[in-house]
Amino acid sequence: MKVHNAEIVISAVSPAQYPESQLPEIALAGRSNVGKSSFINTLIDRRKLARISSKPGKTQTLNFYLIENSLYFVDVPGYGYAKVSKTERAKWGKMIETYLTQREQLKAVVSLVDLRHPPTKDDIQMYQFLKYYGLPVILVATKADKIPRGKWNKHEAVIKRELDFDPSDTFIIFSSVTKEGKEKAWASIEAAVAE
Ligand code: GDP
Repeated sequence: MKVHNAEIVISAVSPAQYPESQLPEIALAGRSNVGKSSFINTLIDRRKLARISSKPGKTQTLNFYLIENSLYFVDVPGYGYAKVSKTERAKWGKMIETYLTQREQLKAVVSLVDLRHPPTKDDIQMYQFLKYYGLPVILVATKADKIPRGKWNKHEAVIKRELDFDPSDTFIIFSSVTKEGKEKAWASIEAAVAE
């Protein structure tokens, strides 16, 4: 998909604030700093899509971006903030759980991990959570340009093993620097939206 038009539509915490629309939605989840905004910007050919700040301590919201008037990307705030209080974390968990388990037009979740490292506890927990609810996952392993191509397979195997990766999910090796994986990511998103 060549994207000409992407706009942030709404920031929501509760279902009443989700956009009133039947368009398909693709959620994007990952711990902070994994490369989620870079991934979104690469897919929509933008250098910088205006993003609501998701710094620790700030209100955590689901951000809905309308893409070419045909689907929404739903940016799920990054997990794994050390500084966030238990209460904040519980609120965050509830908001995400509600969205992921109740939103009918949610077609798939793009779950981002760092290709360089084994998945963190939070990465594993998130993936298992998505699988528990039967959500299709597009696993995106970011920052591929930071390790030699010859090591990609080995890193992919470690990530798949640690996550107990479901073979019916898609695994994409990605780099926002080289654009590796961009076409595959769009193809997977378009296939999920068409389901
Ligand atoms: P977010 O917090 O998950 O939205 O992460 P960002 O997209 O802001 O990226 C965090 C940092 O990683 C930034 O310094 C990015 O420039 C860098 N980064 C993100 N993706 C890549 C990538 O594919 N390759 C490299 N080399 N750096 C990346």
